[in-house]
Amino acid sequence: MKYRRKLSGYFLPTLKEDPREADIVSHRLMVRAGLIRKISSGIYELLPAGWRVVRKIEKIIREEMDSIGAQEMMMSALQPRGLWEESGRWNEYGPELFRLKDRKKRDFCLGPTHEEVITKLAASEISSYKELPFTLYQFQMKFRDEIRPRFGVMRAREFYMKDAYSFDYSMDGCRKSYENHVDAYKNIFKRCGLDFAMVEAATGSIGGKYSHEFMVTADNGEDEIALCSCGFGANSELAPYRIREEKTDSSVKQKRLEKVKTPRMRTVEEVSGYLSLGSEIFIKTLVYDTEKGPVVALIKGDDELNENFLKEAAGVSELKMADEETIQELTGGPPGFSGPLGVNPEYIFADRDVLRMENGVSGANEKDAHLLNINYPRDYKVNWKGPLRKVKTGDLCQSCGGVLELKRGIEVGHTFLLGKKYSSALNAVFTDEKGISREMIMGCYGIGVTRIAAAAIEQHHDKDGIVWPPAIAPFDVVLIQLGKKTSDICKEMYKELGEKYDVLWDDRDETPGVKFKDALLVGIPVHIIIGKKYLSDKKLEIQYRNTGEKEFLHKEEIEERLGDILGK
Ligand code: ATP
Ligand code: MG
Repeated sequence: MKYRRKLSGYFLPTLKEDPREADIVSHRLMVRAGLIRKISSGIYELLPAGWRVVRKIEKIIREEMDSIGAQEMMMSALQPRGLWEESGRWNEYGPELFRLKDRKKRDFCLGPTHEEVITKLAASEISSYKELPFTLYQFQMKFRDEIRPRFGVMRAREFYMKDAYSFDYSMDGCRKSYENHVDAYKNIFKRCGLDFAMVEAATGSIGGKYSHEFMVTADNGEDEIALCSCGFGANSELAPYRIREEKTDSSVKQKRLEKVKTPRMRTVEEVSGYLSLGSEIFIKTLVYDTEKGPVVALIKGDDELNENFLKEAAGVSELKMADEETIQELTGGPPGFSGPLGVNPEYIFADRDVLRMENGVSGANEKDAHLLNINYPRDYKVNWKGPLRKVKTGDLCQSCGGVLELKRGIEVGHTFLLGKKYSSALNAVFTDEKGISREMIMGCYGIGVTRIAAAAIEQHHDKDGIVWPPAIAPFDVVLIQLGKKTSDICKEMYKELGEKYDVLWDDRDETPGVKFKDALLVGIPVHIIIGKKYLSDKKLEIQYRNTGEKEFLHKEEIEERLGDILGK
């Protein structure tokens, strides 16, 4: 039997008004539809209907994970400092890690992810190549003290995640495990009814060799992705592109350098407004500190720096905005008035588009002054030239030369090919056929279960409320009872349909208007309205949430129709 509830006794606190603090549609609707409530910043409770959605997503994930042979377990949320010291992440992870002490003053953290715990387990339990490969996974609350918790469960500080970890004998084996997870992930997001793209991604604090993100495309997405019709996709943080070869206009005359006063004008917007010049002829001069000393990056005023490109070009792993002193020392001027002229070329990394610029503008490396008519290489030299700016609309795909499209996305899943990063740090080794000790090759794979619920709403809603993809709706069917005289037939249908479907029976003593509004708001796929029409000619009105279409059917016809609609 499936799940049946009468609404009169069901905890579904819907709201007529939008909650004040919610600024994206999924957050608003999750609160209004009685799915979540806030406890504190970034901390939410999942109410019964919200939890049902999450459980349905969880079930889909579990089926797909089990089908690739992964084994479900449960790890501890509390983790001792020692483990995180071994991996080096106690310091590296920074303030996002929730740290606490026990009564004996020993340090612990609340797990934001479980590489340490699982690698320790593998290290102590696995000894022979015969025990490899294997994958373990769990569903668990994760804790991250996010700098900007927002958008409800989309970016929370406590959230529900599925995390999986694979252990292999060889890199080839690990690639196979990775491919299996990618296939499983594609099935999962498809079955959840989501429009998504798989993109190349940065590995961040988890680390490893390479990674892919699974992005639900939505206007409110926090990420930006570049997609090509050839199938290529990458997060704009690292998306490569082919530069269009534009001919430089040889008729443009290089003018004489000129210094102009720009009192208190530091940003490109300020100066370009003040001088009435377009931001595309400005040279943005960014000074960074790295573990190898300072670097100066030049990009066009209307472009954005791709920090990953700069890191790669300079061969560094840390980038921090330089302080005033460093800027003064390197450029001879204060922050806000930097430019390439007079700076030691050894430090300068330039985006190619900057070097093509004719009669450009930059800071003069002195307070309240800018220079006009800067030309390369007449006026300055550089150490390195190449792409440094972020991808933008119209750039060409690196693999096929097609035009890239930029979209916004919500990251719902992330797969990492870790290699030996954790097995090496935590000594997870096995002996091979020849008796030689080798480190296990790992992958890790996360899905934001609660984030999927929010992402699904971003993609599927209308002015009246949520339009759940049927597979993850809290209920399949709502019986909307109008009037007392239809009690018997409602009861009958509640029982019969409840054999096969999750049914909510709105038996409340409320006006039809209130009942219709709630059913639309909560987004249940099929509404069956049982009122006068039934009493007069035994017909039931059936409405579909996704299309808004309705039809009148006899009770006997309904079952077949539901099978078509709900795919059960
Ligand atoms: P993001 O870039 O969004 O911070 P992440 O790269 O830190 O994500 P992972 O460490 O790969 O995320 O975690 C796996 C999955 O957990 C993510 O793909 C995402 O769906 C989910 N997730 C991560 N952080 C949060 C959060 N603060 N709230 C809800 N879900 C989250
Ligand atoms: Mg994060």
